[in-house]
Amino acid sequence: MDSITALLSGALEEVRPLAEGAPASYIPELAGVDPEALALAVVGPRGRVWSAGDADHEFTIQSMSKPFVLALALVEHGREAVMARVGAEPSGEPFNAISLEAGTGRPANPMINAGAIATTALVPGGSIAERTERIVDLFSRFAGRELRVDESVYASESATGDRNRALAHLLRSYDVIEAPVDLAVESYFRQCSVLVTVRDLAEMAATLAFGGFNPTTRERVVDEHIARDVLSLMASCGMYDFSGEWLLRVGLPAKSGVSGGLLAVAPSQFGVAAFSPRLDGHGNSVRAVAVVEKLAERLGMHLLEPHESVAVPAVSVHSGETGPVVRLSGELGFAGTERVFAVLRELATGLPEGSTVTLDAREIGRMHPAALVALQTEFEGLPLGFRLEQ
Ligand code: GLN
Repeated sequence: MDSITALLSGALEEVRPLAEGAPASYIPELAGVDPEALALAVVGPRGRVWSAGDADHEFTIQSMSKPFVLALALVEHGREAVMARVGAEPSGEPFNAISLEAGTGRPANPMINAGAIATTALVPGGSIAERTERIVDLFSRFAGRELRVDESVYASESATGDRNRALAHLLRSYDVIEAPVDLAVESYFRQCSVLVTVRDLAEMAATLAFGGFNPTTRERVVDEHIARDVLSLMASCGMYDFSGEWLLRVGLPAKSGVSGGLLAVAPSQFGVAAFSPRLDGHGNSVRAVAVVEKLAERLGMHLLEPHESVAVPAVSVHSGETGPVVRLSGELGFAGTERVFAVLRELATGLPEGSTVTLDAREIGRMHPAALVALQTEFEGLPLGFRLEQ
């Protein structure tokens, strides 16, 4: 067993004995699941998959569908039009609460049911089937395989979905949704009933981690700015009324669902997903929360702790026709410019005054605007001429 798989298995076995909570029962079909099922998967930058436990066990995506339908709404309408109908504030209330802004009726955020129904209503299509097809198609591209709806879970959700239907009527009364209630709400039930495994979810999470680029299929699924918006809302609102504590303890954007699944995103590093049906009082899976927290801690993934090597470029010095050429590659961030300065200062001491140094940044994959400003400031302070090739 490789070290990563061993790490995953070890973490999974530590949470296996946790027996608190119960599977969701308000959707009758969900109550019949095996409460002991337990799984964990990670998908890395080259699309490699590591997993432990029941990694091929299928369950419905439920609320973990919400970030991806948000992505679809953002692609179709842009951020401003979406934000006109749904907010970006943690509600601090349960997932099925009537968290609507006073006066406008705008739901607090797209990660709770009210906001998700408003987002689903923005998916184009004249029929439930057409809307569902668009949604499932996008999910499938995130997951790297063709996904499908579990018809019996859908039927069960629809038969018992009065609260969601009521939310949709309320939203329509405020003109937050324009689509007929049935179209919005049945498409929402179908999106929640899509079957996935932890591998699928980890790949979906990884696609968000790499800015909308699926590392397994190597397909660009959504643009980087869409992935960034989605991750921002997952970070602030993805775990319902546990979102603040989750950010404190784990420090990663995440989304849970009442089936017992959980996906979390370590930006530029990997996607992770866990599954265990027993839920806590917030509607989050007890063991999935515990195992992802352990993993994030062991791997040192909290986003808000210092990362020494963030955006440090590779630097090499060559001789060119007009003087030395400093070649940079990789990513250059504000902090990474210090490394470039050190090389430049050393070069400057050995060169006659008035010499010209060429900074060749053509191999830089990404230059942060802050790095560019820092470079210009440094150039002004050195007794050398500079040429920047970009
Ligand atoms: N389909 C579920 C519902 O609408 C999704 C909720 C959830 O996963 N938190 O109630």
